[in-house]
Amino acid sequence: MHHFHYQKNELFCEEVPLAKIAAEVGTPCYVYSFATLERHFKVFDQALAGLPHLVCFAMKANSNLAILRTMVKLGGGIDIVSGGELFRALTAGADPRKIVFSGVGKSDEEMEYALRTKILQFNVESEEELFRLNEVSKRLGVVAPVSIRVNPNIDPKTHPYISTGLKKSKFGVDIRKSLALYQAGKKMTSIDLVGVSCHIGSQITQISPFLEAVDKLFELIKKLRANGINIRHLDLGGGLGIPYDRETPPAPARYGAALTKKLLPLGCRVLFEPGRVIVGNAGILLTKVLYQKQQGKKHFVIVDGAMNDLIRPALYGSFHQIWPIKKGVKRQQKVDVVGPVCESGDFFAEDRKLPVVASGDVLAVMSAGAYGFVMASNYNSRPRPAEVMVRGDQFFVIRHREEVKDLLKGEHVPKFLV
Ligand SMILES: *Cc1c(COP(=O)(O)O)cnc(C)c1O
Repeated sequence: MHHFHYQKNELFCEEVPLAKIAAEVGTPCYVYSFATLERHFKVFDQALAGLPHLVCFAMKANSNLAILRTMVKLGGGIDIVSGGELFRALTAGADPRKIVFSGVGKSDEEMEYALRTKILQFNVESEEELFRLNEVSKRLGVVAPVSIRVNPNIDPKTHPYISTGLKKSKFGVDIRKSLALYQAGKKMTSIDLVGVSCHIGSQITQISPFLEAVDKLFELIKKLRANGINIRHLDLGGGLGIPYDRETPPAPARYGAALTKKLLPLGCRVLFEPGRVIVGNAGILLTKVLYQKQQGKKHFVIVDGAMNDLIRPALYGSFHQIWPIKKGVKRQQKVDVVGPVCESGDFFAEDRKLPVVASGDVLAVMSAGAYGFVMASNYNSRPRPAEVMVRGDQFFVIRHREEVKDLLKGEHVPKFLV
């Protein structure tokens, strides 16, 4: 469900024609629908209403301040993976008691920053990290609330780059070794073991891997409690998938109902860290057709957006629907939609049947709200695109397009070269 729709052959975001945004802000440009963000958050949150729970938006999916502020105003917490993300979350007004710190490689400085901020919990991913966190906490004279991220060895049946719950992955602590680590943590004076966490992967389109994970965590929590470790939080991570094309992921209501039934007897506060399912289909990337050319059997449509703006197709071979913002042309043609970057991996679509386009036409790359702008780079010295938020019949630039002079920020030519 999202609020990008055609009205008389013209594509709108809520009540704003996308042609208007393309004309006034330029392209390439990300556009997010406030109504869609709000709806996705509420549907997810309400699906878990039967459980004591907290939805912490995984901000690595989209960390624009206006998006974060939207989540905060809806009552959401934030899942962070770095000190930089903590800074953004606090700037957006997030309540530290609703902030969860995930990630395999937290530095001393990041730990210290989060401890001083008094966040809800650290999701610790290794024995060495637990020791280090205890040391840093001791030095500051505080106690760190900790949940150990266990790796339940479950195949989420998704892309290998976003599978994180398998034994061979770098994430979490092998669930079979976790009891020993909890017992070690119990002896540490500056660690409070509040919970158990897991995150098995992303773009998961079935419920069964989540339920399998819950069964394994349930057993572990029982064992921990029997060993005198008072577990109060269960953090299930994120990972619920979205339809990019013809996928049929479970609706949040079904996911919530299945989990609620299983988790209620546990008596834990359950934390969730959804990213993609909240923001993925709430955003698109607008890009303009520059040129076309026939090369061998291929017809290339060259657009002004590129892999530096949206890297998902190049990185994961992922599929994004492409919609013209003005419909009308009936004739279709099989094309590759490619960007100006000097890499063969720089494409948005390959061998795709699209209505015939002309130079100057604007296309919408759909489902680009998650892992879109946040992964944008300046490769090929391309300024990063603008971001716009639509609400009703109004739109707001929530990040200005970078200027070429921004590209040089922090660079210096040493004296001997002057
Ligand atoms: C990436 C990530 C998430 C969010 O995953 P989505 O698939 O976007 O929901 C949540 N928790 C952790 C620890 C992550 O690494």
